[in-house]
Amino acid sequence: MKIFVTGGAGYIGSICVEEMLNQGHEIVVFDNLTEGHRLAVDPRAKLIEGELREPASIAGALRAEKPDAVMHFAANALVGESMTNPSKYFLNNVYGGVNLLDGMVAAGVKKLVFSSTCATFGMPEEVPIHEGLPQRPINPYGESKLMFEKVLRWYDELHALRSVSLRYFNAAGASEQFGEDHRIETHLIPNVLKVALGQKPHVEIFGTDYPTPDGTCIRDYIHIIDLAQAHILALGREESAFYNLGTGGGNSVAEVVEVCRRVTGHEIPVVAKSRRPGDPPRLIAASQKIKKELGWEPRFQSLDKIIENAWAWHQRHPGGYGD
Ligand code: UDP
Repeated sequence: MKIFVTGGAGYIGSICVEEMLNQGHEIVVFDNLTEGHRLAVDPRAKLIEGELREPASIAGALRAEKPDAVMHFAANALVGESMTNPSKYFLNNVYGGVNLLDGMVAAGVKKLVFSSTCATFGMPEEVPIHEGLPQRPINPYGESKLMFEKVLRWYDELHALRSVSLRYFNAAGASEQFGEDHRIETHLIPNVLKVALGQKPHVEIFGTDYPTPDGTCIRDYIHIIDLAQAHILALGREESAFYNLGTGGGNSVAEVVEVCRRVTGHEIPVVAKSRRPGDPPRLIAASQKIKKELGWEPRFQSLDKIIENAWAWHQRHPGGYGD
């Protein structure tokens, strides 16, 4: 298939692009390179530098490329930033997304895989989080992704545009070639590995008084390659659907630091800090639905392997992509 990938120069997009190329698909990446990196685009893919917030830019690219399907990763994804600059999130994630859908309708492209998030659930009523739980986001980031899920429902009904929304939990790890390099790094694993690389003196642990066994937050870390496989399986789905996507297992912040110490052989000092606003104590996915309907199975269930792969990439790219 010919797949048009928005945000294909970002962390998750770049590795999905690589996996799809390995499986023989033809790839066009559409990215404005504000968050993404030119060097994160696999050389076998075509890169179009374009802007979702300009309807003519995205519509023109889709008309010219005529892809079989679109994978939509391009978005802003920092919870904290969304609390101080909500406009950026609604413009890029909702308005930009609607421009993409209108461009698809005009070009006759009828299939989309959307990168959604467990942040659409807010503070979950129960854990593991299954698809039947109410979605009540507690920040503009989660709200913007939920709004776009709702827009998708109407484009399905009114334009027969079929979509699969994948609500990720915590994407982590790396492939041999591509890894995680955000210009502003807020994520736990890369920040811990920066300490091991000697680029930061210590890791800050945001909250040690949560109602969890060791007092730190629990998250469901999913290997980026397993995540990419879920996207490829989603391409084969005929009807619109939404799936929660995680391993169903959970690790605390303290456990992540401990595994990083073991994998890197570095001491990794920690400093306890107060809670980060908006962090739920436990986020774990119920992933039975995607396993049953798409036949997805995570290959990397152990945090050790995820961190080994991330560490290998960070050691080879201590300055990230260098831009
Ligand atoms: N966290 C932390 N120190 C850091 C970065 C993150 O203690 O330097 C915690 C954060 O509060 C959360 C967990 O690690 O409980 C995972 O955070 P991350 O930003 O990686 O992902 P999120 O779950 O927010 O999407």
